[in-house]
Amino acid sequence: MNANRKRMAWIAVVVAVLALVPAVAGSFTVSLLNDIGIGALVALGLVLLTGVGGATSFGQAAFVGIAAYATAWLTTTQGLSPWIGLLFALLLTGLSALAIGMLTLRLGGHFLPLSTIAWGLSIAMLFGNVDALGRHTGLSNIPALQIAGWSLADPRSMYYLIWVVVGLACLFSHNLLQSRPGRAIRGLRGGATLLASVGADAYRVRLTLFVTAALFAGLAGWLYAHMNRFVSPSPFDVRASIEYLLMAVAGGLGQLAGALVGAALVLVLKNGLQDVLPMLTQRAGQLEAVAFATLFILLLHFARGGLMGLLRRWTRRRAGTQGASRHEAPAVDPLPHRQLPQRGTQVLSVNGAVKRFGGLVAVNDVSFEVNAGEIVGLIGPNGAGKSTMFNLLTCTLPMTSGQVRFLDHDIAGMPQRQVARLGLARTFQHVKLRPHMSLLDNVALGAHSRTRSGILKAGLRLDRTEENQILQEAQRQLDRIGLGDRVHELAGSLPLGTQRILEIARALAADPVLLVLDEPAAGLRRKEKMALGDLLRKLREEGVTILIVEHDMDFVMKLVDRLVVMNFGSKLVEGVPSAVRADERVQAAYLGSVV
Ligand code: ADP
Ligand code: MG
Repeated sequence: MNANRKRMAWIAVVVAVLALVPAVAGSFTVSLLNDIGIGALVALGLVLLTGVGGATSFGQAAFVGIAAYATAWLTTTQGLSPWIGLLFALLLTGLSALAIGMLTLRLGGHFLPLSTIAWGLSIAMLFGNVDALGRHTGLSNIPALQIAGWSLADPRSMYYLIWVVVGLACLFSHNLLQSRPGRAIRGLRGGATLLASVGADAYRVRLTLFVTAALFAGLAGWLYAHMNRFVSPSPFDVRASIEYLLMAVAGGLGQLAGALVGAALVLVLKNGLQDVLPMLTQRAGQLEAVAFATLFILLLHFARGGLMGLLRRWTRRRAGTQGASRHEAPAVDPLPHRQLPQRGTQVLSVNGAVKRFGGLVAVNDVSFEVNAGEIVGLIGPNGAGKSTMFNLLTCTLPMTSGQVRFLDHDIAGMPQRQVARLGLARTFQHVKLRPHMSLLDNVALGAHSRTRSGILKAGLRLDRTEENQILQEAQRQLDRIGLGDRVHELAGSLPLGTQRILEIARALAADPVLLVLDEPAAGLRRKEKMALGDLLRKLREEGVTILIVEHDMDFVMKLVDRLVVMNFGSKLVEGVPSAVRADERVQAAYLGSVV
């Protein structure tokens, strides 16, 4: 709470200063601040896209350009109002982003940033080669904006519009990050498998994020066109894109305020250099590029988190770490629950599952069933194929051959997220949590498929009822695993064993029919193992079905109703724990002296 109040105070100071500037500053400063505002708007989109979502774009200036040219063309050649220009600009930017995103966002690794350079270059080139857009001379005589008859031709009045828009965009982004779609965006860096396991489609999340960031750039382009009253191709080329990216990085990709700080830093520095460098040399333009490159490299070396990152490290050191905390909010209706199948009916059946990795047969013709309300253990020596079997039945990996039925659906070949939506929730042997998100947010991510709010609703804060339901559910699940008093801590600060338990809470937040756990007790101490056993038994009582891979024989034997033993990819034996324990084949293959 205290930290929150401090932040509000800071924001109030910044707003007050920004509001007073035009009264005291000269027109040069006001124009510079206008440019900073417009830059910040683009950088804000990049903080979301690159900083939070992990997709680097070297083509953002192209979206600024599309919007600027769209409104310029509509208002100068068609004589329409700039407000219609705004709609047209955003529509065109959004559609372009959608088309480009659909073509490129599936590319992995370095290919995505490379492709952004490609379309950044080609769009800028387009502006310079279309007659209707004035080729290299561009379009001039763009009308100034008018609000209720009041002209914004003067930079001082434009200033207020720009900064109100920047303020609203910051608010929108802030709301977005603390919401259902925001958590999915923050989850993107955890990989497509993580998102699919909670029923989200990483590609769609990334695409909507990409369009959102482009719309921020589009808004900036519209403001730019009506502020400068003139557009030409060069401010929208790849060099400009790199400058926007530099703003986001310099300010700090991890935080929204980084966009403002970074835009200010880059533009003030650029202006300063433009004044100073010509005094030193004739070739000022080239030296400016060198100076920027040096700045960029220094930043990457000494302050990956940008200026805001440095500031944050400093304030955190002074403030110390936060104490224990719960999510406090008025109680709301719980999220609706799934109807669980009748105890004893078949929930999952695997039939002749085969998985080959090249020449290696990791799973070889395995069949078994799991019925509602039972705990089934899948055991076997290391490399027996248990995790692969899990990946097959959760559709994380495609099967070579065989069938899997879950409830009334043939799920083999279904996308993993769809299977998750049917009520199959899983944890991972190698934990997939977002270390920089709180425990509460990590668990809330699990409720993704039970809820609906999208980016627009979240950004406008129209999602509050549902959001409260989600957080209440997350708090409930955290209470269940005994971490209910530490919900605001970061997941990465937990020991590995506890992180596994946190994954169970995330899986439970999905209200699953079948819970699939891959080595949940690994890394836990004795007492923690007992608590985990109690939790799983309680879940069974509530009617949840559980399939568990575990190494700790003692733990498994006491817990499960039935065991399936795998060895070298094949099913060796199946039966109740006592029978499996007594089976000679099992002892020979695996248990040996352990039992
Ligand atoms: P377990 O979980 O029982 O220890 P795994 O399912 O992880 O076993 O692995 C079974 C076998 O499949 C091992 O020999 C492993 O090396 C191999 N394997 C697992 N995943 C892959 C993969 N993605 N590519 C190639 N081989 C794999
Ligand atoms: Mg394994």
